[in-house]
Amino acid sequence: MNSRNYDDSNIFAKIIKGDIKAEIVYENDNVICFKDISPRAPVHILIIPKNKYIDLNDFSSNSNTEEKISIFQAFSKIVKKFNLEKSGYRLISNSGKDGRQEVPHLHFHMLGGKDIGKMLSL
Ligand code: 5GP
Repeated sequence: MNSRNYDDSNIFAKIIKGDIKAEIVYENDNVICFKDISPRAPVHILIIPKNKYIDLNDFSSNSNTEEKISIFQAFSKIVKKFNLEKSGYRLISNSGKDGRQEVPHLHFHMLGGKDIGKMLSL
């Protein structure tokens, strides 16, 4: 998959455009971070690039250096903002069918505020 297959009608594209509201907790030129609408933990923040990337592979292959740096800066901002430095957190990016990605715009879930449990229950 690459940017040419990007679906402009996805829900996060609408949040970026401001057509749909979200509880934004941090934003910079390249990244927007907002609360997940159905949180799976006391802290559940979605961290997404503003440009059109479908998934992590698309972003890794096609984003520029500034965009990559901005995502890592956003991770750090969210960790600080929600006091996760000491207690820890989990950062997840679901991709494609096997990763059960529901929204086809790259996003990272930052989950914390409690013990998140085992990574996978087999
Ligand atoms: P995925 O399964 O694609 O990794 O996760 C998509 C996430 O987006 C889900 O956790 C879901 O709760 C969240 N989500 C879906 N629609 C909306 C919305 O309209 N607003 C917000 N804030 N989150 C949403």
